[in-house]
Amino acid sequence: MIKSWLFPYQCLLCKCRSDQKRDLCSYCEKQLTEYKNRCAQCGLWLEETESGICGHCLKFPPAFERVIVASDYLPQSAYLLHQFKFHHRFAEGKVLAALLAQTLKKTYQDSAWPDVIVPVPLHYKRLFSRGYNQALLLAKNLNLPIKIDYRLLRRVRHTPRQALLSGKRRRRNLKGAFKIVKPVAGLHIALVDDVITTGSTLQAIALQLKNADAGQVDVWAALRTQIHPKH
Ligand SMILES: [Zn+2]
Ligand SMILES: [Zn+2]
Repeated sequence: MIKSWLFPYQCLLCKCRSDQKRDLCSYCEKQLTEYKNRCAQCGLWLEETESGICGHCLKFPPAFERVIVASDYLPQSAYLLHQFKFHHRFAEGKVLAALLAQTLKKTYQDSAWPDVIVPVPLHYKRLFSRGYNQALLLAKNLNLPIKIDYRLLRRVRHTPRQALLSGKRRRRNLKGAFKIVKPVAGLHIALVDDVITTGSTLQAIALQLKNADAGQVDVWAALRTQIHPKH
């Protein structure tokens, strides 16, 4: 019989007693993290004929080097993110961070970890209305021995929500939205966001960092939608 003092965690998805030391049971976790053959650079699923890097990244190389995500944007993972982002449910945020940390540890086994973690900043107006920056919380809950610098980048312009705009308007919308506040030359930076949709925000920031001589930019996110960028 499973003793409750031994497994005090409850799965946030199926509500059963978790068989792991987190609020997610191993069955639900498997649904979220099932291995997909992804493009190493943008995180989108590869076609059967592709390997390593997808055709789109070969044709239009992004400014970031790699994308590492905990899960795809599935109904269950989107539920966790929604609770965390809009309903102040921090246990859900911790579970997403734990899944991401697990994937990161596997991915960086044979390569150098970034020097610094930079959460994608919110404009102060949105920070004020929400009360917290979900990307910063996610970064903190990764519990990695890497410095988190949330002051390196500033969001200087309040932009309409990216999700409501088309590809071209997204890019125009982002122009001058961020400001790099500190020197980044030679730095290997991990940009952290809660979810990647088209990736246009992360591409804009990574490009700005690379133009300021950053050594390498990696992107970490809890979730990745399978929306292909349009050119
Ligand atoms: Zn479960
Ligand atoms: Zn790709």
